[in-house]
Amino acid sequence: MSAADVPCWIHVALDVPLAGPFAYRAPAPVAAGLRVIVPFGRRQLVGMVTGTVAEPGIDESLVRDIVQVLEDVPPLPPDWLRLATFAASYYHRPLGEVMLPALPGPLRKPSAYLGKRSAGGPVDRLARRRRKAAEAATDGPPSQAADAPVLNPAQQAAVAAIGAQTGFAAILLHGVTGSGKTEVYLHAVAQALARGRQALLLVPEINLTPQLQQALVGRLQAIAGPHGVAVLHSGLAEGERLAAWLAVVRGEARVVLGTRLSLLTPVPELGLIVVDEEHDTSYKQQEGLRYSARDLAVWRARDIGVPVVLGSATPSLETWHNAERGHYLRLALPARAVAATPPDMRLLDTRNVRLQEGMAPALLDAIEARLAQRQQVLVFLNRRGYAPVLNCTACGWVSGCQHCSAYLVLHRARVGSVLRCHHCGAHERVPRSCPDCGNQDLQPMGRGTQRVEEVLAERFPEARVARIDADSTRLKGSAERLFAQVHAGEVDILIGTQMVAKGHDFRNLGLVGVLNADAMLFSQDFRAPERLFAQLMQVAGRAGRHTGGSEVIIQTGYPEQAVYQALVRHDYAGFAAHGLAERRSAGLPPFAHQALLTAEAGDLAATVGFLGAARDIGEACSPPDAAVTLYDPVPLRVVRVNNVERAQLLVESGSRPALQAFLRTWLARIAELPAARGVRWQLEVDPLEI
Ligand code: ADP
Ligand code: ZN
Ligand code: ZN
Repeated sequence: MSAADVPCWIHVALDVPLAGPFAYRAPAPVAAGLRVIVPFGRRQLVGMVTGTVAEPGIDESLVRDIVQVLEDVPPLPPDWLRLATFAASYYHRPLGEVMLPALPGPLRKPSAYLGKRSAGGPVDRLARRRRKAAEAATDGPPSQAADAPVLNPAQQAAVAAIGAQTGFAAILLHGVTGSGKTEVYLHAVAQALARGRQALLLVPEINLTPQLQQALVGRLQAIAGPHGVAVLHSGLAEGERLAAWLAVVRGEARVVLGTRLSLLTPVPELGLIVVDEEHDTSYKQQEGLRYSARDLAVWRARDIGVPVVLGSATPSLETWHNAERGHYLRLALPARAVAATPPDMRLLDTRNVRLQEGMAPALLDAIEARLAQRQQVLVFLNRRGYAPVLNCTACGWVSGCQHCSAYLVLHRARVGSVLRCHHCGAHERVPRSCPDCGNQDLQPMGRGTQRVEEVLAERFPEARVARIDADSTRLKGSAERLFAQVHAGEVDILIGTQMVAKGHDFRNLGLVGVLNADAMLFSQDFRAPERLFAQLMQVAGRAGRHTGGSEVIIQTGYPEQAVYQALVRHDYAGFAAHGLAERRSAGLPPFAHQALLTAEAGDLAATVGFLGAARDIGEACSPPDAAVTLYDPVPLRVVRVNNVERAQLLVESGSRPALQAFLRTWLARIAELPAARGVRWQLEVDPLEI
């Protein structure tokens, strides 16, 4: 055997539910970060080369040859490989399950390269299509550089502080809604570009507010050039995503604007990361790799030594705590950028008040007064449908789902009504009489957005009433149409769920009425008050951005609750201090670190039996100094969904490294438990909802 025939052993990450790494033989060295097509079982897969090794680690005769090296994309940079490796290890997932899904679809399909019609692979095909399109195209519309306002002193100070960072810094930009955080991001991005670096700007959701996105893209294009901005989100067609992703990886696009998935994009010259609305729960992926894009953004920035800006009006308590103890630099934008008084927040005590269809007379009067002034009113209610449950007045029967431990929600449809399960999607006709006793008087209990819409339309017959929720916006384009009507002043009363809370700037909105906030307060989840505070501040931010003297009225039976008291004072800092003190005394995050083992199976006994066995084995392998606490398995609040019974087991530790070390040993042993058979289970690190 001559020296040239000495085989190269390479490690390859594959998107399969096995730990890996997988060794293959290559005829010549292959750089880490390149993709290869390899045989796996009887299939062929695209894998990511993670390195060359001296020994394959298994019997050489068992090692298979790679099929092809793919070189249509340059090797992905080492810092991207480190990021994926960290994410895989921190969230305890196989490396390939992190790396491969982060690539655009066509780049991970062997058929895109080996098929008869692959024509040089997806990258070549894209380039040819682009050339044709470029020949056919005339100049597109010039990117509109909307006029940039002159920064106010607080914004200037923030921009200067961000620009002064020469290495890693985590910066909390704390500013109320409308304080002009976006301007600060844009200037910070411009600074990074001027230093020859790329910038990554994460936003919670893109499709929700297309107008805002267009404005933002317009401004970014004014900074980075018409082709300098890549937009990445899950709604893109495969070809579009590939084109945008390639532009970033090749350094042609200088700015990436995207949702959480874009955090896993290779950005070779990354110089700044911005996470807007850093507290938003949509930064948490809820399936597969359950990562927090916000947390990974901070890790990535530290790893490559660049600043990361976390912006919010209501930061997560984790982030606030980090600012309080000096780990994060805090910059504040204390006032609204456009001279407008913040809305007056009032609590409407509903104890001892006769509600009319769920609304206090004082709220109805306030609505009437605003309508008389030709101002718009928003009624915020986080519950869609007509009524959350249908009830028999004679025997107490309630509409329940056959497949879930949940009520069926009454929805009014154009023809008749239906009962629908919000958990499994099952739906059925409304019975004419009680299935249990035959009584014909079935009553809707409670109120959803549809019913509030009906009530308000009856009560204010002159007013134009519209509703924005997941039901009224199911058809593509309908959300934009509804929002456009509101912006055009064609709606007087808008009823909406959390869909209306974000982004939109309603110019003529004089009053926000909040119904049923207490339901959000008394959830089992210890983060419920934090979410309620953020959500109501955000809803309040919709009001009076341009009209003076707007108000927010929150109906509650618990006005003395700390979260409400802080809200009426617009006192985030006070709320956070109270919340952190409570968390500290209860030993909850950020003063403890958690992981959640969730299991599901056909029956609860199997689910809980598995979790019990997992706990026992965990007790046995947890360190003797009891740095890790394992709690009892508990059924989920909605225990059965689609005939599957679900339960969870919480693990907690004061030390992140101790928790991580424990999880590593524990998970290996869980997989071997006999009780794991027939049970689907998954681990979530730093769970947001418990
Ligand atoms: P935030 O993101 O903090 O909620 P925005 O960045 O959306 O706030 O700013 C709110 C509004 O104020 C926008 O219409 C923006 O154009 C405007 N604005 C921001 N900074 C200034 C400024 N320095 N002067 C005048 N208007 C500003
Ligand atoms: Zn009955
Ligand atoms: Zn159901």
